[in-house]
Amino acid sequence: MMRATIDAARCQGHGRCAMLAPDVFDIDDDGWGTVLVDPVPATAEPDVREAVLNCPESAIALLQGPIRSAGGAWMSTGNPKSE
Ligand code: SF4
Repeated sequence: MMRATIDAARCQGHGRCAMLAPDVFDIDDDGWGTVLVDPVPATAEPDVREAVLNCPESAIALLQGPIRSAGGAWMSTGNPKSE
């Protein structure tokens, strides 16, 4: 199961995520990227990975569930840009 998050501190509202993966991302009323669905539908995973690679601010993180830390938080499997 894939989950996607957007770091609001990094997002600059370019909208590339919503353009590349419109089933998962959108631009909110204030112009920032937002995640529409959680978890990401399997059919949208390729588009989401493309959005991650094309976000100019590296603001999108992918999480793989149901891996949880001892504290119950979702564990990040890393940003594809760094792989
Ligand atoms: S592409 Fe990145 S910076 Fe642009 S709106 Fe989406 S998350 Fe924000």
